[in-house]
Amino acid sequence: MKIGSEDRQCVVHRGKGIGGTSLINQLIYSRGNPTDYDTWAEIVGDPSWRYENVLEFFKKSEDFHKTNPDAPVDWEYHGRDGNLYTNFHIPPSNFTKLFLQANKEFGKNITDYNGKEQLGATILQLNTKAGKRFDQASAFIKPLTMRHNLIVSEGSYAIKIEINTNTKTTTSVLFTKNKKTYRAKVNLEVVLSAGAISSPQLLMLSGIGPKNHLKIKHIPLIQDLEVGSRLKDHIFCPLTFSSNLTSPEEALTQEIKEYIRGFGDLTAGNPLDAAGWYKTDFEKNPSYPDIEIIPTTSAETELGRKFLSWNQETWNDINNNKVNDPFGLSVVLLRTKSAGSVRLKNGNPYNYPDIDSNPLSDVKSKDIKTLYQGIKLALKVIEMPTFRKIDAKLRVTRLNACSNFRYLSNRFWYCYIRHMSIPAFHPVGTCPSGRDPGEAAVVNGNLNVFGVKNLRVADASVIPFTFSGHPNAICTMIGEKLSEAIKIDYKIYS
Ligand SMILES: Cc1cc2nc3c(=O)[nH]c(=O)nc-3n(C[C@H](O)[C@H](O)[C@H](O)COP(=O)(O)OP(=O)(O)OC[C@H]3O[C@@H](n4cnc5c(N)ncnc54)[C@H](O)[C@@H]3O)c2cc1C
Repeated sequence: MKIGSEDRQCVVHRGKGIGGTSLINQLIYSRGNPTDYDTWAEIVGDPSWRYENVLEFFKKSEDFHKTNPDAPVDWEYHGRDGNLYTNFHIPPSNFTKLFLQANKEFGKNITDYNGKEQLGATILQLNTKAGKRFDQASAFIKPLTMRHNLIVSEGSYAIKIEINTNTKTTTSVLFTKNKKTYRAKVNLEVVLSAGAISSPQLLMLSGIGPKNHLKIKHIPLIQDLEVGSRLKDHIFCPLTFSSNLTSPEEALTQEIKEYIRGFGDLTAGNPLDAAGWYKTDFEKNPSYPDIEIIPTTSAETELGRKFLSWNQETWNDINNNKVNDPFGLSVVLLRTKSAGSVRLKNGNPYNYPDIDSNPLSDVKSKDIKTLYQGIKLALKVIEMPTFRKIDAKLRVTRLNACSNFRYLSNRFWYCYIRHMSIPAFHPVGTCPSGRDPGEAAVVNGNLNVFGVKNLRVADASVIPFTFSGHPNAICTMIGEKLSEAIKIDYKIYS
């Protein structure tokens, strides 16, 4: 059951420097690596999650357009008949060309990262159409609103899934709209898709969750499961560089004309149109990246401050070290070991839950060590002749909090990572799929909640660990795969 509307933040910042404009929006289409899916299949004990088997669902959902003739595309991995418009930003930013060239000099291939080979550098595939974000509602729901068997109730808010305590069968969903409460009765089953934060919240409000936690919150227990206990996220660490390169600033009227025609600097995707996927020495599988590097405008702006939630002291340090016309490389830790939690504040469905991302907390410090290796990789890319030609230089803020450590020593960098990094807004794993609730699994390979009848979860919360890709494409595949399974279960094929 997916009600409510998308409320993603979309912020445009126009400024000088490389790229000129930055836009924070969800749009990068990235599936991850076949090894992610093969591992997932092992975790749930169900080979249907192997990459060779889910590939058909990725292709089925995709409407792929090669809008950039220079971008590599492995067509056997892409679909053209689906609903999810996927394309490249046009025109590619000058900085993307530099980034790709420097990667070639660094010995990396330029690849279709959703194709045969993920490792390498690439032009990003985006879910945009005519320069605007094309989300899942536009792709999959809006075209079907005329169907007699579909009701989309915008502005409705689910507050409880009602479950018969004797039979543990899902009977109805309570939701509110315009200050009135309604009960939707269940004929067949409920598919909960409220996302990695709200799905565990709603399950716990409904009595499905860790026994002790529900007891403290005075919620009668229906099923003791480790809901919300393994929140995972990518970790994102920004680096800033100075250079002698500036992008020519176009007149705003010209930029607006281009925007209306669906391309140019103001459209979604700029300057987020390149990335590199790398493997540190920690990863033994030769084709499995554990680090992503994304060129961006510098994060050290008011907008970056909001996005990265820096505290006042860090922000003051950054402001005292301002760089003219900077650019950024963001280093992203892909397979995070640290885990946090989502817990109810109380039994009130209108209160936000407590989210503790608990980043960089793994006992063996593998996360921070891998991020540090990722930073070193980014600095190697910057040493390539293409970047030397534009006099690219690392500008690392002398953070007051890190002043006890020798500037740019290992320990300084670890301190920098702790102060500057954030979870990457890619939460997963809060209702993880698996074989055994005794090992903290909440749903099985068919996405049924263990021990409760007629209730499934289908969203980022069921992804058991952070993949080497961004979660939105994975969620789309989960939807396609589940819809196929439901059609088979209920013999809906004619
Ligand atoms: C700023 C930002 C940028 C991102 N960029 C990217 C990117 O470039 N690429 C990428 O792959 N991923 C990106 N992500 C992550 C991506 O958005 C999520 O992983 C993805 O949307 C998860 O899909 P989902 O279906 O699990 O949940 P959601 O997309 O969050 O969908 C859950 C839906 O349930 C609704 N809902 C929640 N609670 C209730 C309730 N009680 N009653 C009724 N409705 C409810 C919500 O309103 C929402 O519509 C980004 C995220 C953020 C925040």
